[in-house]
Amino acid sequence: QQNIAIIGAGIGGIGAAVRLAAAGHRVAVFEANSYPGGKLSNLQVGDYRFDAGPSLFTMPQYVEELFALAGENPKDFGFDYHRLNTVCKYFWEDGQSISAYADLHKYGQEVEEKLGFPAQALKDYLAWARFRYETTAPIFLENSLHRLSTYLRWKTFKRVLAMPWLGLHRSLDQENKKRLKQHPKMVQLFNRYATYNGSSPYKTPGIMSLIPHLEQGFGAFMPKGGMKEISHSLVRLAEHLGVKFHYGQKVEEILVQNKAVKGIRIGQKELAFDQVVCNMDIFFAYDRLLPRQPRPKRILEQPKSSSALIFYWGMDQSFPELDVHNIFFSDNYPEEFRQLFEEKSLYEDPTVYIHISSKIEQTDAPLGHENWFVMINAPQLDGQDWEQLIAQSKKRIIQKLERILGRPIQPHIVQEELLSPALIQAKTQSHLGSLYGTSSNNSMAAFFRHPNFSRQLSGLYFVGGSVHPGGGIPLALLSAKLATEDLIKNLK
Ligand code: FAD
Repeated sequence: QQNIAIIGAGIGGIGAAVRLAAAGHRVAVFEANSYPGGKLSNLQVGDYRFDAGPSLFTMPQYVEELFALAGENPKDFGFDYHRLNTVCKYFWEDGQSISAYADLHKYGQEVEEKLGFPAQALKDYLAWARFRYETTAPIFLENSLHRLSTYLRWKTFKRVLAMPWLGLHRSLDQENKKRLKQHPKMVQLFNRYATYNGSSPYKTPGIMSLIPHLEQGFGAFMPKGGMKEISHSLVRLAEHLGVKFHYGQKVEEILVQNKAVKGIRIGQKELAFDQVVCNMDIFFAYDRLLPRQPRPKRILEQPKSSSALIFYWGMDQSFPELDVHNIFFSDNYPEEFRQLFEEKSLYEDPTVYIHISSKIEQTDAPLGHENWFVMINAPQLDGQDWEQLIAQSKKRIIQKLERILGRPIQPHIVQEELLSPALIQAKTQSHLGSLYGTSSNNSMAAFFRHPNFSRQLSGLYFVGGSVHPGGGIPLALLSAKLATEDLIKNLK
């Protein structure tokens, strides 16, 4: 039995805690905040409840796997979910709108009737997304790309990388134009999936066309009780397995002796541990916790994913024309992404995402009211004048929504809270406020993510959205799987 410290109670840290405790180890989690979940946490504003960060839940099997490992029933720990019948509702400036139904037949009919896009072409696109997912996920996501055993298969791997079907040599936008008959609205709709890992569709490779399969193939879900129940139910499970959570404990150093970790330091307190799993953003982990260790410069300097600006609005009306997930597209998508990634600024007509959990979880807002999580993509922190950008964006978002919905919005906002890139960095220690660690804005990005283990120090492992295989809840949970399997294997 090993004595293991986990730094951070983000979803990656919690996942690692469950796995290690289920394997019989003694696990303690040290979290700087007074609550668990990191980005995946809860927010109460007056009578309105919000999920502070992620709003879209895919791949629930990765959460269920943790309960199965522990031999427990998820429902006994408060984890259950609904499948959404409408994955997302899309709106354009010209007044057109469509619903992306979970039922592929209905979705096909919808795009054919409203956008004049053949239902069969949509089905073909999604079948292609499935094929891409099934042929690449086991290599790129479910494996360590950094262990010798992977490189032994390098020859095969190189052959795979060169294959045109993988779409590494063209952008997602080019890929979508080719596969979606140059239909501007369908191309924009499927280009949006680049933002699921904080990238630009004009830079990220065509292979990202596998992402829609996660939503349309596996399904889009909503946990009962809100997204926070993913982290909260897993904390309950971890505690049941004996994991100790210590909140308000900011780790300041990983202690090292003879190229092996020997513990952590919090303030003046040095605590001895056999192994350390670090869930802190990898940039800050090297910068703050391992200042005397050599830095993997090339990895740490990879471009960051986008950040976000979020307004949490308590609305004193309900809007039947909206669904749980809604997108109001920008009139100039290429310019929006150019501004985000090249100018590090915000385009004047941003794409607006609104998530309304109270459409399903009625207690999230008072009767007849709604809780609006209103988000636009934002650039990483780069010395911008955020006060001015935030005030300007709020005005533009309201004008856009009033224009498209054809009804007043401003007078119905009765509560407001804000999350900005600077707050994301401050609350979760995410370098430059990025949501998903490094961006996937180049075809080799997967190979420039930090591995789930330290190359220099034995007993040190890394989990979370800033390391392999990447950001988002499912991938952060996969990172916990890869790191802990490695840790356990190394003990043998
Ligand atoms: P994080 O959530 O980054 O948490 C790290 C934790 O470690 C924090 O609690 C922090 O306080 C703690 N910590 C850091 N350093 C220390 C230290 N030195 N000592 C102690 N504690 C420390 N993903 C999706 O799947 N679907 C979505 O719809 C989605 N939308 C998003 C929307 C927003 C606004 C944001 C912010 C993110 C979104 N994501 C989404 C991404 C997803 O939230 C993250 O990829 C995932 O939650 C990251 O988990 P993590 O394990 O990296 O930990």
